Amino acid sequence: MFRARRASPAPVWLIPVVFAGLYAVFAAFSLATTQTEHGIALIWPSSGVLFAGLLLSTRQSRLLLLALIAPVSMAVNMAFGATFAIAAGLTLANVLEGAIAVAMACGLDGRCGRFDDPRWIARFVIASVCASAASALIASVATGAIDSPTFLYSWFKTVFLGMLIVAPVIVTGVHTVSDRTRIAFDRRKILAAGLFATVSIVATFGQTDYPLLFLPVVAIVFVTFIAGVAGALVMICAITIAATISLIVGTSPITFVSDPLQKIYFTQFYLLTIFASSLPPAALLARSRAQMAEIELRKAQHDAAQAFAHVGHWRYCLRTNTSQWSDGMFAIYGLDPKVDRARNLEHGSIVEELEGHVRETLKKAVLDRQPFTLAARILNAQGESRYIESAGDVEIENGKVVAIFGVLKDVTNHVTALRQLAVEKERAEALAQKSQRLSETDQLTGIANRRKLLDTLGREIARSEREHTDLSILMIDVDHFKSINDRFGHAVGDEVLKRLANLGSTTLRKGDLFGRLGGEEFLAILPSASAETAAHIGERLRRECEELDWPKIAKLDGVTISLGVAMCQFGYDETSLLHAADTALYESKRSGRNRLTIADRDGSIEKAAKLISASRR
Ligand code: GH3
Ligand code: MG
Ligand code: MG
Repeated sequence: MFRARRASPAPVWLIPVVFAGLYAVFAAFSLATTQTEHGIALIWPSSGVLFAGLLLSTRQSRLLLLALIAPVSMAVNMAFGATFAIAAGLTLANVLEGAIAVAMACGLDGRCGRFDDPRWIARFVIASVCASAASALIASVATGAIDSPTFLYSWFKTVFLGMLIVAPVIVTGVHTVSDRTRIAFDRRKILAAGLFATVSIVATFGQTDYPLLFLPVVAIVFVTFIAGVAGALVMICAITIAATISLIVGTSPITFVSDPLQKIYFTQFYLLTIFASSLPPAALLARSRAQMAEIELRKAQHDAAQAFAHVGHWRYCLRTNTSQWSDGMFAIYGLDPKVDRARNLEHGSIVEELEGHVRETLKKAVLDRQPFTLAARILNAQGESRYIESAGDVEIENGKVVAIFGVLKDVTNHVTALRQLAVEKERAEALAQKSQRLSETDQLTGIANRRKLLDTLGREIARSEREHTDLSILMIDVDHFKSINDRFGHAVGDEVLKRLANLGSTTLRKGDLFGRLGGEEFLAILPSASAETAAHIGERLRRECEELDWPKIAKLDGVTISLGVAMCQFGYDETSLLHAADTALYESKRSGRNRLTIADRDGSIEKAAKLISASRR
């Protein structure tokens, strides 16, 4: 299985041991150089080393480091001639100063901040001031120099400068090395900055003829601009080292002060000034660079989201008659923002390319000062047709409309899908209609089948009841059809049925329904028809059937039909009405065929069926 590789955490003792070692080296160096000079060091870098070590440590390592510093400090001080008691007092000052500094800067458990954060820098400086002051007090008590302001003042300044100048460089250096997301610096610019810095430092501290102290200040601004906070910190360190060396070897540019002690004081103030004037701007610069990077990142994410959603935004400036497009707009128009940006912005092609009503919509939005929505079709750079929708508003400045701003969405996929859907729906509806027709049509004759007849009959009965109108039906049966089949064959029988279907359909009025109930039985549904009217229609049908030129049609001598008429009575349903008609039909058959019988109103058809036709061959 894949497993992310992680750097294993450093052992607890690593930072304490390394920093205690550094502490010893710097302390010995400072004491050695101070011994040969005027008894006062320019800065006390060990304080910065200890502070940095504590800032970079975890809680456990912090305690271990403080514990290790005690013997180291004792040893170094005694090696340089301090008595045990004095060395112990100075060691107390050194250890407590570190503890106070780290506790104030980030609490004993807290994490160390970054030197590109101005708030952290402020906290760091305050912690350094307090720790240095405490350290100076303890040291002057321990050495019995409590009544010497010079000692107090010198101790404070050397410790303070040591913390200010050394700690940030070490912390930032460690952070930079361990950072995964390292900023890529331009090598040539770094080289140029380094060269300028070196020249300015050497020119300033390598001679005593000209007080060029401003030169490193210019260099520091340059280096900060190129390399940010890290650059500023390295410069401060380099200047400090150069100033220390120049004091030792006698090339200090501070020639306007003759007293060696004053020379050191001046240099200390000089270093403080450089620190105070370079680190805060460097931090602000770093912060604004980080914000710029954040904005760039957000913009990239925004563009990606727009591209994914097929969305873009545009702004048309009425003052300059130019439009600005987001990358998403270019994508919708099939253009490359890198190549086409300038050209399109010049021509303001958004209005040009959209259809006519767009111009009107936008004009109206400007005149009414109202938001707008519009839908249009465009041709993209590849000549493809795209459907778009846009919504937006006007921008008003000092009561005047100065621009129109809109969001635009490519809805081609949506529109295409909707159209496809409409086509599919139409097709499905046509199919459904066709199958409905088929399910209601008799295959042989092409007229309504039994299902359609019964459906319609049910509806018409309900309607006649609701509207108090008449409703009659005609039941029709071919006489001796079996013998037609038997004598002339089924095909002739079928032909007879088709002829009758045709006859029925053409004889009836619009609004009536003529269909095949099954076999050689037909049914006519006659809304608004009384029994008499139905009987007349039936009689006409019977006659027309009789008079058809059957010999010519199907080589038959003749075909007759018998009919039963029934009118819907109160309380009838399909079954009772059909039964009444069927009984009347049966009466027609029984009394000789080729005739029509009307069912009685009271339903006692068996006895009282009325024969109204009796034509016989
Ligand atoms: P009646 O005068 O009493 O009505 O005698 P009929 O012979 O007409 O009545 P019957 O019920 O005895 O016969 C009906 C015949 O109709 C029987 C059947 O074979 C025939 N038939 C039913 N459907 C069709 C069809 O679709 N085509 C053809 N050719 N014949 C059919
Ligand atoms: Mg029959
Ligand atoms: Mg029959």
